Amino acid sequence: VLPARAPSRKGSMIHMSKDLQEQVTLLEQQFSVSTEKLKEVTDHFVKELAKGLSKEGGSIPMIPTWVIGWPNGTEKGSFLALDMGGTNLRVCEVIVQGEGKFDIMQSKYRMPQALKTGTKEQLFDFIAESIKTFVDENHPDSKEMLDLGFTFSYPTEQHAIDHGKLLAWTKGFDIPGVEGENIVPFFNEALARKGCNNVRLTTIINDTTGTLIASRYAHPTSQIGVIFGTGCNAAYMEKFGNIPKLDHLDFDAEMPMAINCEWGAFDNEHLVLPRTKYDVEVDEESPRPGQQTFEKMVAGCYLGDIFRRVLVDLHKQGLIFVDQDITKIEDPLAMDASVLSAIEIDPYENLSDVQALFENNFNILTTEQERQLIRRAAELIGTRAARLSACGVSALVRKAEIASCTVGADGSVFNLYPHFQERLAGAIGEILGSEHGEKIKAIPAEDGSGVGAALIAALQAKGLGLTMA
Ligand code: BGC
Ligand code: MG
Repeated sequence: VLPARAPSRKGSMIHMSKDLQEQVTLLEQQFSVSTEKLKEVTDHFVKELAKGLSKEGGSIPMIPTWVIGWPNGTEKGSFLALDMGGTNLRVCEVIVQGEGKFDIMQSKYRMPQALKTGTKEQLFDFIAESIKTFVDENHPDSKEMLDLGFTFSYPTEQHAIDHGKLLAWTKGFDIPGVEGENIVPFFNEALARKGCNNVRLTTIINDTTGTLIASRYAHPTSQIGVIFGTGCNAAYMEKFGNIPKLDHLDFDAEMPMAINCEWGAFDNEHLVLPRTKYDVEVDEESPRPGQQTFEKMVAGCYLGDIFRRVLVDLHKQGLIFVDQDITKIEDPLAMDASVLSAIEIDPYENLSDVQALFENNFNILTTEQERQLIRRAAELIGTRAARLSACGVSALVRKAEIASCTVGADGSVFNLYPHFQERLAGAIGEILGSEHGEKIKAIPAEDGSGVGAALIAALQAKGLGLTMA
């Protein structure tokens, strides 16, 4: 039986020592984002989205994806989808049946941590091996070609729907020799090495583009696809005429084109985001300092590390875990976002779940006061992530002049982090005004990286994807 949720913890805060109370106040000052600040960040965000579409370009890549239409329900066929996100590798077979219906079969493989910083041959061999295993199991001795959509969820410049040049690794990946290169030949060579001859890559997509399309397939009011997961990013449909960097091409100005924003790169110039010293450290110690500034404040890949650095800092100042061995939390990978989630949902007034978590996982004994501080720090970091995420959504809504829409959302933070969805909705209301904000509804999307990839492969087969350069 679950105990009733703890009442407001404000009362117990009073019993905190003056030192700890002071630290809580300091953390609140550093991590809270006022409505005014949210609006300032959003204003700048709108300008940066536009700049990304301009000829000069800006720090947000705003990548044309060559997906030039919405699904209309008549798409049909069977497609393979390969989803390489930040955490797992998934091979799916999606049977698109039309009228919003589909069937999916899939195998999931956890990507070994070492693969993320290994060689490109190791990475692409792992991918090819996974596909071969799947195809051998499900299509033994098939002579027919199987069309595959590859969901490659990293900033990837596209000259065509079946081309993708990796701009930079994100989410802690660091594999030499891939940045600046078209990944398709690497993929094809690995398939050939494994003797997998009946698979043909027809489309490269981003998970946000897949989410946009999959969400639209199920909800005709969807206009934005967002991932709040290990990484954070969004896609939307822009009119060709509003993409100045493509105006040398002769297309109808009204033709829609999905744009993969890659908004994780927002504010790489460090002009508006309220970064703390912890954010600066996370960035400086990441494999790509100076990149993905926005993402490093909001995405699951970094939330645990920000939080961990707060605790290590307070320990160094002699304020918490006094005389204890904190080696276990000195590892940058010691905590992921699920640790913050667990801390935020501890229902007990004395935070005994938090106590057990620290003792069992990190060998650290906590006092009740320390746990109050721990909870407040997690709440502040989780809340800031949701509120800053709202700036991205609101900026896109303003950029695309959307009066009302569904935002198809996916990712571990959106789906699993406690209160993320309410905090996000609340902040969107603060930024856009409650009347407008209420008309922008983030809802859990269909599986964009699987179903979305298959739908895009189906659109491509119908001629709604462009393969010209
Ligand atoms: C990548 C994006 C991706 C996002 C969510 C970011 O790190 O750059 O391409 O959409 O993560 O997976
Ligand atoms: Mg994913």
